[in-house]
Formats: sequence, C-alpha cells, structure tokens
Amino acid sequence: LIRFSEVTKRFGENTVLDDLSFTVDAGRHVTLIGPSGSGKTTILRMLMTLERPDDGTIEVGGQRLFPADEKRRREVRKGIGMVFQQFNLFPNMSVLRNITEAPVRVLGMSRDEAAERARRLLDMVGLADKEDARPSQLSGGQQQRVAIARALAMRPKVLLLDEVTSALDPELVAGVLDLLRDIARSTDITMLCVTHEMNFARDISDEVLMFDSGRVIESGPPEKIFTAPDHERTREFLGAVL
Ligand code: ATP
Repeated sequence: LIRFSEVTKRFGENTVLDDLSFTVDAGRHVTLIGPSGSGKTTILRMLMTLERPDDGTIEVGGQRLFPADEKRRREVRKGIGMVFQQFNLFPNMSVLRNITEAPVRVLGMSRDEAAERARRLLDMVGLADKEDARPSQLSGGQQQRVAIARALAMRPKVLLLDEVTSALDPELVAGVLDLLRDIARSTDITMLCVTHEMNFARDISDEVLMFDSGRVIESGPPEKIFTAPDHERTREFLGAVL
C-alpha cells in the first residue's frame, strides 16, 4: 500500500533519509523505531505531504504521491490521516466541529451526515458527552482521543501516529494506547506508528522497522526485533530504551 523507493531527504547539509526503500502492505501495523533524529517523523510528514523528498518516489495505493502534480497529490493525501504528538486540534472550534470540518470541506459530506458520523466516533472514543466542549476544556488524553476521532472521520486507508502519547501525563497514556489497540484490532486500517512506547509497539505491530542514520537497518516481527535482533545498533538502542 505504501512504497518508498530510494528516497533521499536533506535539510541543508543534514541528510536525514539516505536512499531509503521500504514497503508497507495493506492492513499491516508497522512501527518505526530508532534513535532520535533518525528521520522517523520526517517519513510520516512526507506521507502527509508536509515535507517533500529531494529524490526518489513515494507511492500510496499504487498512486504516486511524489513526484506528482498537485491535484493528484491532494487526491492521494485524502486517504491518509495523522495523529500528532501535540494533538493540533483547532482551538476555536467545538469538539464536534473539529471532527466534522474536514469531511465537510474536503470530502464534500453534508453537515448532518458529518455530525452523525462524528457522534458515532465520539462515542467510540468515550467522549459522547463532550461534543460542545472546546479543546482547552479537555485533558490531554481527551484531546488526543478527539484527534484520533478526527483522523478516522476522513475514513483514511492509512493512519499515521507520531509519538501520540509523549505529550500526555503518565496516567493518561494507557487509555489512549488501549483505544489505538482496539482500532488496530477492529479495523482493516493500515497503521504506521512512530513511538517510544516499546510495549505498545510490541503489542500492536506486525512489523518493526529499525532506523539508523536515515536507513532501515533491520526489520521483522516484534518478537524477533525485541528479543533477538541481528544488529548491534538495534541491541544498543533497545538496551537504552527498554
Ligand atoms: P525523534 O525521535 O526525535 O522525533 P526522528 O527520528 O523522528 O526523531 P526527525 O524528526 O525525522 O527524526 O528528524 C530527523 C532530522 O531532521 C533531525 O536531525 C532534525 O533536526 C532534522 N529536521 C527535521 N525537520 C527539519 C526542518 N524542518 N528543518 C531542518 N531540519 C529538520
């Protein structure tokens, strides 16, 4: 479903992704791990078209995202949702409006239909009674649940999760991870996660990609990567974070 082919990305002198190739099949749950600065977030941001590669191609669902003309890119981009570390909700909109805005504007859904769907999603994330609240009236964990509902409202084929629990108070982390586990189990959505929560990664992923210096140095099922990695770098990294 997702294919990176020989992708290179530089910021000035800094080569963040170096001739990177990998694929993610439809319905898979893949976690990217690796040291800070190894380019994991940049990969998600390129899929969201928030950054562009300097070289190489990126395809989603057999369609080119890069290089591609702007119209095509917008079309492909509609099938991809992202949840950010800092929630990024629209602060001046109600919870319901945060969820309905993109389906109405981007997909052309009617307000009523979008609201009905948003209420179902709010129910699923356990916030049925918060539709009129502003984001600032919610806890971090609640805001992140709204952000998850907002991403799902676009019926994405691909859900990108970027360190979704790192800005949360510790007691709120488990609830958000449980919700994501449920979504991973109960939908056929393809998930690409960047996380430092190794238990979560172990639990939800079919496959783990270990990054170092802009390349995938090792990949495999979590049982293998977390217990018997082939690479010294992977062992060192896991030794430091586990
Ligand atoms: P972390 O786990 O800390 O989030 P990461 O693996 O996700 O790390 P990225 O956020 O992708 O790494 O960043 C990779 C490198 O690119 C870092 O060295 C970062 O400083 C640099 N970088 C990212 N975005 C920009 C930007 N917009 N301008 C310049 N440099 C950037």
